[in-house]
Amino acid sequence: MSRILLTVLMLTGPEIVCRLGPADPPYNAYSDERSTGDALELAGKVNAALVSWCRPNCPTISMYRNVTAADLMLIRNEGQVKLVYKPAFFTSVYDQYGDAGILAVLAHEVGHAIDGAMPTPWMKANWTSELRADAWAGCALAKMNLSSRALQAGLNALSKYPSPSHPNWTARIPVLQDGYTQCGGDASKLTLIR
Ligand SMILES: [Zn+2]
Repeated sequence: MSRILLTVLMLTGPEIVCRLGPADPPYNAYSDERSTGDALELAGKVNAALVSWCRPNCPTISMYRNVTAADLMLIRNEGQVKLVYKPAFFTSVYDQYGDAGILAVLAHEVGHAIDGAMPTPWMKANWTSELRADAWAGCALAKMNLSSRALQAGLNALSKYPSPSHPNWTARIPVLQDGYTQCGGDASKLTLIR
């Protein structure tokens, strides 16, 4: 009886859907702290860009900062989704790429969270979950209507900080482009991302 219960608990434990950066030191959820207002504001922009694609099945995503987290993590647990970032990672992305860098990496993670919530005809069946998250990131970048320069900065941030399971950047580019154009992005800005 207790063995069965243990198995069920293990099956439904937290699952790290996507992780950027090394998993060292180990993440300790007890060190989760409320995210900063700046980070929440950027997450709100990503949410607004993508919400129409998952409504009415959008997951509720909570966001935390945590010094023990990997750079950025999306964790699913018992139907809850949480995004956890390492404060030093956001500082570093912001220093290099500005707001657009943070928007882009958040959009990739939110893409994981909303993936599969609703049928999406343009999503290709042979894309892996990492590529689908990139397609959503491209979609979000289009919806946020960034300048060419900000768009390039966002893509550079995605390229610079892949997860260990992300495919090569050359495989990711066409998928990001596809998501971008499917969501109404200005194709003339896309010449910059090759
Ligand atoms: Zn990912």
